[in-house]
Amino acid sequence: ERMMEIRRQNCNPMIMKVTYYKKPVFVHQGYMQWLWDVDGNRYLDLFAGVATVSVGHCHPKVTAAAEQQLKRLWHTTNIYAYPPLHEYSEKLASYLPDPLKVVYLTNSGSEANDLAMLMARLYTGNFDIITLRGSYHGGSPQTMGLTSNAAYKYPIANGLGCTNTMCPDVFRGPWGGRHCRDSPVQTIRECSCAQGHCMANDQYIGQLKETFATSVPSQIAAFFGEPIQGVGGAVQYPKNYLKEAYKLVRERGGVCIADEVQTGFGRTGSHFWGFQGHDVIPDIVTMAKGIGNGFPMGAIVTTPEIAASFAKGVHFNTFGGNPVACAVASSVLDTIKEDGTQQISLDVGTYLMTELAKLREKYEIIGDVRGKGLQIGVEMVKDKASRDPLPPQAMSEIFEDVKDMGVLIGKGGLYGQTFRIQPPMCITMEDADFFLAVFNKSIHNYMERR
Ligand code: PMP
Repeated sequence: ERMMEIRRQNCNPMIMKVTYYKKPVFVHQGYMQWLWDVDGNRYLDLFAGVATVSVGHCHPKVTAAAEQQLKRLWHTTNIYAYPPLHEYSEKLASYLPDPLKVVYLTNSGSEANDLAMLMARLYTGNFDIITLRGSYHGGSPQTMGLTSNAAYKYPIANGLGCTNTMCPDVFRGPWGGRHCRDSPVQTIRECSCAQGHCMANDQYIGQLKETFATSVPSQIAAFFGEPIQGVGGAVQYPKNYLKEAYKLVRERGGVCIADEVQTGFGRTGSHFWGFQGHDVIPDIVTMAKGIGNGFPMGAIVTTPEIAASFAKGVHFNTFGGNPVACAVASSVLDTIKEDGTQQISLDVGTYLMTELAKLREKYEIIGDVRGKGLQIGVEMVKDKASRDPLPPQAMSEIFEDVKDMGVLIGKGGLYGQTFRIQPPMCITMEDADFFLAVFNKSIHNYMERR
């Protein structure tokens, strides 16, 4: 009660708005895939602080690396040279294909995307940026412009040069993900509407071309895309979409930016970076979240050529590349290797998707199961015929029920209709079974009540 009072009086009121549960879970402690609240209740954490804890809460190896660095040096800026910055930059660059070799360290995903926008504009001399429907790229005023989902935008963002449809400096592309304009089910597979709202790749690409036709070609600075949309609800591209989109953007003088904030560091299982699943090499890769296993950090990796054009100005970031952050992030990369994290993501993720697909057959209200590795979306509908989104009240009931049975999951999608499963990538098959039983029970309970 006292904490609720403090929350009301002294905390950023925004956190009351984004609080998922009727009564917030006061998290006190974490270990690997587990969280404990102040009352000692244990939860299986399948949302990882919004897809952020990559190798496990308070992972012993990462914690030890942080401790060591905390005792040696907390802070100096990149005015000085210090080993963790150099060691980490070299290590991170070794995870990316040529010619992506130059690393910039930031403190968050929004900062990384802000910087990427600036870099792209300086490099190309152009201004317009294309982002996609359903995308989320950050909460800073600039990245709010990149973000498509109106739920995460202030109306004043229009005054910052961004409208919800098209604006002079940032405009969203036409691609709706696997999204039907009439139906909320974001999947081509699911949509058989006679109007042909759900389009195949050439139609999405056609829309992209249309977007270009309504803009001046020499004005395109960049194209931003998440390899799989995260906040958008694990929305995936049609095959070859990114490849063709990259080609079109480059033909028009723009650079291609992969926002790997959610998809990086092995989360998609089959690849270390999400873009590798699309057979493309971006010009700029932005990352955050999983990079530090929860320690505040972000990064950009780009080409020497783009870095050279950026070097014409001066960019400084007090905390970017902080020694402790670098030590933590370096240990995260080692841990992903040593613990076989990416393989776990692939194995447990594939198992979860297979089993969730069975629940989809069983229940009228599970519209779609999609994603890759441990980036999974379960889209809920009123029924499979209408494909209308399951209303927020019903979503909340299931969500609370899942929590009361000891599992924390996430929510996303343009209508808040998609449950998201993006756990620390140390979960086991037993954890997956536990969640599946809980999810099954909570949906069963809801169907009984409805
Ligand atoms: N890009 C993507 C794909 C994200 O999911 C997020 C955060 N949800 C961001 C960027 C912004 O990251 P941050 O909250 O660290 O600023």
